[in-house]
Amino acid sequence: MTASRVLVLNSGSSSVKYQLLDMADRSRLAVGLVERIGEETSRLAHEPLATGGGKREQLGPIADHEAALKAVAAELAADGLGLDSPELAAVGHRVVHGGTRFTAPTVIDDEVLAEIRSLVPLAPLHNPANVTGIEVARALRPDVPQVAVFDTAFHATMPDHVAQYAIDAEVAERWSVRRYGFHGTSHAYVSRATARLLGKEPQEVNVIVLHLGNGASASAVRGGVCVETSMGLTPLEGLVMGTRSGDLDPAVIFHLARVGGMSVDEIDSLLNKKSGLLGMCGDNDMREVLRRAGEGDEAARRAFATYVHRLKKYIGAYTAVLGRVDAVVFTAGVGENAAPVREAAVAGLEGLGLALDPRANAERSGEPRLISPAGARVAVAVVPTDEELEIAAQTYELVTG
Ligand code: AMP
Repeated sequence: MTASRVLVLNSGSSSVKYQLLDMADRSRLAVGLVERIGEETSRLAHEPLATGGGKREQLGPIADHEAALKAVAAELAADGLGLDSPELAAVGHRVVHGGTRFTAPTVIDDEVLAEIRSLVPLAPLHNPANVTGIEVARALRPDVPQVAVFDTAFHATMPDHVAQYAIDAEVAERWSVRRYGFHGTSHAYVSRATARLLGKEPQEVNVIVLHLGNGASASAVRGGVCVETSMGLTPLEGLVMGTRSGDLDPAVIFHLARVGGMSVDEIDSLLNKKSGLLGMCGDNDMREVLRRAGEGDEAARRAFATYVHRLKKYIGAYTAVLGRVDAVVFTAGVGENAAPVREAAVAGLEGLGLALDPRANAERSGEPRLISPAGARVAVAVVPTDEELEIAAQTYELVTG
């Protein structure tokens, strides 16, 4: 029997999302989430899809990531899917920042772990939690390969002149200041799935991917290779997001510090956590924004308009970057579900060859699908993202390939 199970771990500062997959048939055996780790009100939600046993919930304090992973292991064991099974081939970890060092999935040893730790200054909110997740999983199954799959990796192919900011080159080099890009696992998966939807190989198509979740980013993918993406040194740059501003004049920061008397930490929190849709209208969930806008709420309408305007600018910019576009594809929570966002983003872009079939756009489905009229010059598509499957696939390929 060949071991074919992969556990995918996505460790955040106070949460762990996990999926156990069987890569023999790419099926999901169990999925779940531990949240509010370190608080009195921790919650573990577990669903053993393999047994069809239904969702289970465990409430009560879970002190740290080690306790969280042990609780997950116990839940899996109760379903006959224990992590001590010889069928476990590997653990795949989502790691947010790989810097310039990691451009492909990597088997984790002490040296790799130390390097991931050394990248913490570039991703102070994310990499520490990723490191903790790796340490705990390694202790649990030291004999099983642990693989890091980096959110930045897919964007490593961006040409240097695209990745560099137009600042003093020595300062940039000294402090590793350049554009890295994030959501790479999703952009990789979705761009490939879009080629498949068009009946083509990834090398044959140029695709603009719009990953619109609570975080949001765009990428331009030429022949399967990422040539530009909207997030930069950190996930703050680019599109308007649920709570992040996206692009703004960097002098806004100086102004808020000098004139507004705000500290760097306050401005960091303002731009990352209290801006975007939330900052403009008080709601970061697009469902609420749409509902309120539909009722005539002026702040919600304007926030929606700003969100869509930024999207259009990126579609236009990436059309210019690619020269020829075969498909524009929407993915993630907003992109997959919010027909009004797709409609508004594409409206008026006939000159770029973009149009929607209103009926196809309004249809709800979990499948990859085209929403442009037959024969359109540029296909417009909705492709559900699946970062966990992509992490599992990359992990499994590395350990078996
Ligand atoms: P994600 O980060 O990909 O999980 O996306 C989460 C976001 O998707 C939420 O904050 C919502 O704003 C958005 N979302 C989910 N479902 C819908 C929907 N039916 N309509 C509009 N937005 C949605």
